Amino acid sequence: MLKDGEKGAILQRDKETYAVVPHTPLGIVTPAQLRKIADVAEKYQAKALKLTSVGRVAMVGFKEEDLDAVWSELGISPGAAVGLCVRSVKACPGTTFCRLGQQDAVGLGLELDKRYHGLELPGKFKIGVAGCPNQCAETSVKDLGFFGKAKGWTVLVGGNAASKPRLGEAVADSLSDAQALAVADKVLDFFKENGKKGERIGRTIDRLGADLFQKAIMLD
Ligand code: SF4
Repeated sequence: MLKDGEKGAILQRDKETYAVVPHTPLGIVTPAQLRKIADVAEKYQAKALKLTSVGRVAMVGFKEEDLDAVWSELGISPGAAVGLCVRSVKACPGTTFCRLGQQDAVGLGLELDKRYHGLELPGKFKIGVAGCPNQCAETSVKDLGFFGKAKGWTVLVGGNAASKPRLGEAVADSLSDAQALAVADKVLDFFKENGKKGERIGRTIDRLGADLFQKAIMLD
């Protein structure tokens, strides 16, 4: 039996079969990638394809002996679906497609994904990016959330859903893309240095105080 994450696979409830989740940043895929996912699912008799809330396709119910062939034929790298790390970034269409968009959520989301997806941290870490204050990417319940306004990005930190939900709090406003990324760096550094194993960053901030956190993430 494989450990969770080994061969990019997660053991399922039946204790026999595995799910794999190809890394499809922000849930943006080409028709060819979707076709390939469907073909591989059929060939290796996946029991289901589950579209997740961050736009991934979880391919469920593979046999252990097929996992190497599944990944090799998919030609897409595994996503960091489990463990204490930065998970898949959730982003809305922003100014790329949505008529209400005020900032480029896809552009910022892809850059965040490129920089941080899979980065190991003390706790699970979710990021959301929304193009306007409607926050369709649920940015208030992400460990790190961004939403766009006419003057730039508002940054929310410390949100999470799970069994003890917490809303993120606004820690910066009217930021350019570059400033938003610089704040993201500082937030992650703070968590790396101060988080306890298994803790979400909201609890780290509650434990150490908002003033200390706010000082740590101030831009120069
Ligand atoms: S958050 Fe705003 S920009 Fe993004 S999808 Fe919703 S309404 Fe559109």
